[in-house]
Amino acid sequence: MSLADLPPLREVLAEHDLLANKSFGQHFLLDLNITRKIARLSEVGEGDVVIEVGPGPGGLTRALLETGARVVAVEMDKRFIPLLEELGAAAEGRLTVIQGDAMKADMAALAGGPAHMVSNLPYNVGTPLLINWLTGPYRPLSMTLMFQKEVADRIAADTDDDAYGRLAVVSQTVCSAKVVMDLPARAFTPPPKVASAVVRLVPLEPAPDKALIAALEKVTAAAFGQRRKMLRSSLKALGGAALCDKAGINPDARAETIDVAGFQALARALT
Ligand code: SAM
Repeated sequence: MSLADLPPLREVLAEHDLLANKSFGQHFLLDLNITRKIARLSEVGEGDVVIEVGPGPGGLTRALLETGARVVAVEMDKRFIPLLEELGAAAEGRLTVIQGDAMKADMAALAGGPAHMVSNLPYNVGTPLLINWLTGPYRPLSMTLMFQKEVADRIAADTDDDAYGRLAVVSQTVCSAKVVMDLPARAFTPPPKVASAVVRLVPLEPAPDKALIAALEKVTAAAFGQRRKMLRSSLKALGGAALCDKAGINPDARAETIDVAGFQALARALT
């Protein structure tokens, strides 16, 4: 059987007698028009390697395989493994399925080289996974990731947005970040309580060094931990007004008005 001959996902789920398990954050995309759109937005194609976290019944996996890419999929719920192996056979071996926890997986070893990340992430581990990929040793070529909308907005936010905070500053220091697709809760089976959105992140060159990221995490934690206070006071433990002066930042400003370059200057001043 080829990819084109595979039955609709709802039939596959019914045939394998599979229902979503809430504890794994399972909300499936069963409409191939939607998963194909995400695959297009990811810009992957023949010759590319893609890592997908949480393939579940494989709707996004199918769309990624249709582009000609090779997919390495990490799924925690072992009930889905037989169904994903059928999909791998239809894709003539371009799908490698690994059963395990993506939080513990060695992405570099899985990819075996440069790879793109494309996933409809489980809500409960979406942000920690992103932080791992932004700050960890493995640097993906690009990331096209579905989050709950509120998290997507926090990743791509600009100064003065309510959503602007630590996640925006760290994400946008490592990558360009843009919300490229919004999806209502009803697009998923079963529908979650909130809407979702896809963020596309592309690493910036040159990669920021680890010491800068570590300092940035300290500065943003202090500044946004007390976001209504002036920096001279919220950053007191890190040097307060003197640190701001060294970075060329107004110590009377508040965290939400300091752009990503401003936080990088503060982090550099701290290192
Ligand atoms: N990609 C599928 C789709 O779009 O229909 C399923 C997405 S669902 C939101 C999240 C998937 O991640 C589920 O299949 C779930 O079992 C899996 N999952 C949850 N936690 C995981 C983890 N720590 N590591 C790997 N997979 C995980």
